[in-house]
Order: sequence, then structure tokens, then C-alpha cells
Amino acid sequence: MPSIKFQSGDTVMGRWPGSSLFYEVKVLSYDAKNQLYTVIYKDGTELELREADMKNPTGFKPSRRSRSRSPSRRRSRSRSPARTTRRSSSRTVSGTFIAETHKLKEVLEKPAEVEPEKKVVESRYNLRRRKDDGDAKPAEHTEEVEQKPAVATAPITTELEFGGRLGVFCMTLLLPATVLGLMVVCSQEDASLMSSPPLPALDSLWDLQVFGMVVLWLLFQALLYMLPVGKVVEGMPLKNGGRLKYRMNTLYAFVLTVAALGAAVHHKIDLSYIHSHFLQLAVSSLLCSVLLSVYLYVRSRWATQDLLAPGGNSGSVIYDFFMGSELNPRIKGFDLKYFCELRPGLIGWLVINAAMALAEMQLHHLDYPSPAMILVNCFHLLYVLDAFWHEEGVLSYMDITHDGFGFMLAFGDLMWVPFTFSLQAYYLVHHPNHLSLPWIIGIVTLNVIGFSIFRKANSQKNAFRRNPSDPTLSHLKTIPTATGKSLLVSGLWGLVRHPNYLGDLIMALAWSLPCGFTHILPYFYVIYLSILLVHREARDEAQCRRKYGSAWDDYCREVRYRIIPRVY
Ligand code: NDP
Repeated sequence: MPSIKFQSGDTVMGRWPGSSLFYEVKVLSYDAKNQLYTVIYKDGTELELREADMKNPTGFKPSRRSRSRSPSRRRSRSRSPARTTRRSSSRTVSGTFIAETHKLKEVLEKPAEVEPEKKVVESRYNLRRRKDDGDAKPAEHTEEVEQKPAVATAPITTELEFGGRLGVFCMTLLLPATVLGLMVVCSQEDASLMSSPPLPALDSLWDLQVFGMVVLWLLFQALLYMLPVGKVVEGMPLKNGGRLKYRMNTLYAFVLTVAALGAAVHHKIDLSYIHSHFLQLAVSSLLCSVLLSVYLYVRSRWATQDLLAPGGNSGSVIYDFFMGSELNPRIKGFDLKYFCELRPGLIGWLVINAAMALAEMQLHHLDYPSPAMILVNCFHLLYVLDAFWHEEGVLSYMDITHDGFGFMLAFGDLMWVPFTFSLQAYYLVHHPNHLSLPWIIGIVTLNVIGFSIFRKANSQKNAFRRNPSDPTLSHLKTIPTATGKSLLVSGLWGLVRHPNYLGDLIMALAWSLPCGFTHILPYFYVIYLSILLVHREARDEAQCRRKYGSAWDDYCREVRYRIIPRVY
């Protein structure tokens, strides 16, 4: 970073947006184009700051030295269980984001206004540490900050999501049972959710050969992941200032998988095996996700502390097992979370769909799959290929940047996605649905509308975040925020606050309609996605309000609806 005042890794004092309060921050990176520094506060909040809002910490030192000689202060240190004899050596560590080099200080630009200003700011911005109330308090209240050892420690997760320990315990049991239950009902002639189909015999759920196939599938995808093709890009900045590198080759992996399956079919391997062993495949995938989660939990005990996920470090075994403690677990360069996020599950979903089309043809003696099956296959294919085409965008997803890798994601990637997202195709094998031409045209139009909104909204936002002065977006209105970033408030982003979610939901409906209206089961996906996106919107809203404060309120006043215009 030539000719700039602060360097990556520097610990400086950064102004909290909209206030005169300065807190200790660590510089993560500098964006020369926008002339903004990305910094991280002690509570884990990342913001972009202008140089004018950052100060050298030396200007904050004098009062500390005088206090360090105070007997009362010595007493307070000696009472602290966290105090170590390494205090003096930890002082010499420069550029680390821990401990004690400079206490958090409140800078009084206008001394007379400080107290009222502080109150106003605290009501507008959440100045408390998100997971741990300790570190983000202004300096005079944080004697303990100086007493931490010079070893990076991850904040303890105190705000538990999903109903806490009991909630995640129930989810760990209920989610796999839900998938298996849906699959069993779907295979019945009466696919009503009110029906009580006979429970499958235990030995019909397990087959060692099927388990071997699932393991082979994972190994094959892992091999494709390691192929040295596709560009390598950097992920989002990590808490320690570093960035991980990722190879973008999912599309190649998909093409090679299709070629391998084509060759297999050519050699008389019957893909409808997937249909006839569907339950066993799901159980084997579940077992793989459980084994993977246990491995992830065990290895997280030895993980570097400052690379733990903020939400998976509660100390509770079941909670951390579910949420995942480690943010980006890697074996050498092999990123386990990123691998699972796109490949075995999403490609697996498409392979299952194709196998269902073959099974339908065999069962009903068809030369071609039915129009309904073709629509479902094409819609899903478009969605997944779009994700692969925009693979780089995945690096900024909450899953990658925020959530730890534990049972929630491992199960989601390896079992939930491939076996619930393909339910419509599975349903059509047993419940054919005739579609008239007007219906086909109507459903295709709906999917095109949904996809256009989804893609345009995501592309606009991504382009705007990459380059706010992109000339193709100059017609859009924006609201500035104290962080230096702006918010789009016209076009799709002026229609609702999450136009991309709206597009996603419209598509989800279009995927279900080919299955007709006899049962609600094929609509499971659209119901599930609605719940997920409403919950996700609330999480994102809370984060944005913390980040942008009053600017976010202005945005909400300007764009009143969240996902569906005039409804929600
Ligand atoms: P978004 O891509 O909408 O990202 C939200 C972020 O966008 C905010 O935190 C904020 O971050 C930024 N932002 C919000 N409003 C504005 C604005 N007006 N102008 C500029 N930036 C804004 O959400 P997700 O990451 O949740 O979803 C990504 C995609 O994945 C979506 O299309 C969603 O439908 C899809 N999805 C699909 C799922 C499925 O199961 N099929 C599950 C989950 C998601 P900042 O300001 O920091 O940039």
C-alpha cells in the first residue's frame, strides 16, 4: 500500500461512525480506488473509514502512563485472574489486535459535548460488543483490557441463536427426520402430509454399497476441486487481517461430472439406481455429514483462536457442534466449508434430478421425460449454473464470512440441499402431472420474471459494492452512510429492501407449479424458503442497523417494504 498513512496490521484509533468517539481498531486493508480503509473493531465489527477518521494511537498515550503508576491500578490488576506475568512483554507486541498496547480511548473533540453526545450515539448505534460486552466500552471503563495476555482469544458467544442449546439439540434430531419423512411420504401414492405411511424397515435404510457410492462421490468431487484450473481469488478479509485464497473451478467440476456420468450411462450404468436407493443415499449422506461435523468439532479445539467464528464459541458442546466453531477449516489448502458449499450438494442435486427423469421414463414407459419433469430439471439447472457462473459472489455470503463450519452447514450442504431440493422431481416420478401449453407458458414466464429480478438485483448490488461510481449505475439514487458506503434506494432496490429474495421466491413458486395442486408436498421448497428468507431478512436488517445507524432508518423510511411490495 504505497504512500498511505496506515498499513495493514496497524493498530490505530478509529472514529465510530457519526460520533466523536474513537476506538482501537486494526487496519485490515486499503481500497485505493475509494480511498477507504477496512478496519475491524474489538467487537468484530468491520467498517470502512476515511483517513480523516483515523488517528495515530500515540496521541492517546499520556494519561495511561500516569495511571500505570497508580497504586490503585496495581491493586486492580493483581485481583484479575486474567493477569499474567507476561504483561510487560505483551506491550512490546506491535500490530497485534489483542490485549493491551493502547486502551480504548474516548476522544473529546468538543469536550463540553461529550456526555450528551455519547448518550445520543449509544442510542443510535450499538456500541456494545455484539457477543461480549467487555471490549468495546470507552477507555475509562476498561481497566481489564490491559490485563489480557498477549495471546489471541476469540470472543465467547453469549447470544445464542436458534433457541439456544435446547433449540439446536432439537434441530439436530428433527431436521434429518424431516428430510427422511418427506422422502417417505413423497414415494407414497397418497403423498398427503396428513397421511401416516408405514415406517420403512431399518434395514431398508442402510446399504454398505450405497454408503461406498456416497464416499466415492465426495472423493471424486474433492479431486475435481483440487484440479489446478480456474482463477484463484482472495476471499473477504479475516479478523487477523489475512485473506484466504480460493480457486474458482466449480463450473469445470460440473462439466467434468456430466462427462463422467455420460460415459457411465454409455457403459450401461443405470442412473435410476439413485431413484431406487434414494432413502439409503440420504441416510449415507447424513452419516457423512455427522462424521464430518464430529471431525470439525474435534479439530476446532486446537484451532487458532482468532480464526474462530463469532457465533460458534459458546463453550456448550451441542451448540458449538451445531453452529461450528472454526470459520474456515482447511486441510493444507483444501477448504472444507467452501468445498461443501457448492459442489457435492448442488451438483448432487442436479444429478438426482436427472436420475428422476430417467426413472420416470422407465416407470411410465416414456420416450422422453414429461413436460413437467423437463421444466423442473431446466429451472433447477439454470439456478445452479447461475450460482456456479457467479461463484466469486459466494465468497461474500454469510455462510462463508460469518458462520462457522459445523453440523448446520455440513448437514445443509450434504443432505438437506440435494434431498429436499430435488423433491419436486422425485414427486413427479410417482405423481405424473399433465401440463397444458398455456400452463407451460405461464410457468416459464413466471420463472423468467423471478430469475430476472433475482439476477438483476444481485448483479446491481455486487457491481455497486465493487465500484460505487460504476457509470452503468449512475442513474440510481443512493443514500450515503457514515461508514463511507452508500445504499441503493431506487430501481429494484427502491422497490423493496430485498428484491433478490423476491426473485428467489417467485422462482421457487415456479418450480412447484409443474407438480399441480393435488398435494402440498411439492410446495415444501417455497414454504421453507419463505421462512428462511424472512428470518434471514430480519438478521440482515439487525446487522445493517448496527452498521449504518440512522442512514439505515432513512433507507427504511424511503423503501417501506421488505420483500413483497405493498404486502411485506
Ligand atoms: P444480500 O445479497 O441481499 O446481502 C445483504 C447485504 O446487502 C446487506 O448486509 C448489505 O451489506 C447489502 N445491502 C442491503 N441493502 C442494500 C442497498 N439498498 N444497497 C446496497 N447494498 C445493500 O443477502 P444474502 O447474502 O442473504 O443473499 C444472497 C442471495 O442468496 C440472495 O439472492 C438470496 O435470495 C439467496 N439465498 C438463497 C437461499 C436458498 O436456499 N435458495 C438461501 C439464502 C440466500 P453491505 O452494505 O455490507 O454490503
